Amino acid sequence: RRPFVAGNWKMNMTRAQAAELIAGLRQRVAGKPPIDLAVCPSFVCLVSVAEAIKGSAFKLGAQNMHFEANGAFTGEISAEMLLDVGCKYVIIGHSERRHVFGEPGELLAKKVRTAQKAGLHVIYCVGEKLDERERGQTEAVLERQINEVFGPDVALGELTVAYEPVWAIGTGHVATPAQAQEAHRFIRSRLASVYNEGLASALRIQYGGSVKASNAKELMSQPDVDGALVGGAALKADDFAGIIEATVAAKGLA
Ligand code: PEP
Repeated sequence: RRPFVAGNWKMNMTRAQAAELIAGLRQRVAGKPPIDLAVCPSFVCLVSVAEAIKGSAFKLGAQNMHFEANGAFTGEISAEMLLDVGCKYVIIGHSERRHVFGEPGELLAKKVRTAQKAGLHVIYCVGEKLDERERGQTEAVLERQINEVFGPDVALGELTVAYEPVWAIGTGHVATPAQAQEAHRFIRSRLASVYNEGLASALRIQYGGSVKASNAKELMSQPDVDGALVGGAALKADDFAGIIEATVAAKGLA
C-alpha cells in the first residue's frame, strides 16, 4: 500500500497564509516523495491553493461536501464544484462534522456515494470518543461507523479510511502505536467481511489524532497504519514536512 499523508487545515488560514504555507512546503518537500500527499484547505482557499500546488507532489482535498448535486441548499458545496476547482479528495465523516455539526451515519453514507459517483476519492473518518473507549466500546463504535456507510455500491478501492480517535484530535493525547495498530487491524478485518480479504488488504488506513513529526515514525511503523490525517501539525511547513519525512522513513522508502 502506498502511504498517504493528508493535512486537514480545518477553519484556519487566509489565502495569504495558505500561500506562505504552500511555498514553505514546496521548499521542504522537493521532488516527488514515494507517498501520496494532500492538503485540505477551507473552501475559500481551494482555488488559490490549487494554483499554488501545481507541479508539486501535493494534491487538493476538501473538508466536506453536500450529498445533492445542486439546488436550494444555502451555504453548501457540491462534489461537482469541488472537482471544478481541482479537488481529488474529500474528507467525509470527520469527528467535528459528526459531533459538532451532528452529521449522522445515514447522511455520511449519502455523501460517500455522491462523492464517489462524481469521481472524488473519499477520506472516510471513523473513531470513538473517550467515554466510548473507557466503556470498552471502541470496536462496537468502529463497526457501527463502518456498517452505516459501506456496502456493495461503495468502491473500497477508491477510498481511504482515517482512524481518528476523538480523544486524540487536537488534544496532544496521541494514541499509542499499539492502540492505533489494534484499531486499524480491526477496521481492516471488518471491511474484509463486508468486501473480501483482497480489497481490505489493499485499503489504506490513515491514523489521525495529534500526529507530530516527533511521534510519526513510531505510529507509521505499524503494519496496518498507512499514513496520517494531520490537523494542527499540518499548519506549519516544518511540522508537516517532518511528518512526511518520518512516514517515508518508517515505511523504508527513504
Ligand atoms: C484532525 O482533525 O483530522 C486531526 C487529526 O487533528 P490534530 O492532528 O490536530 O489532532
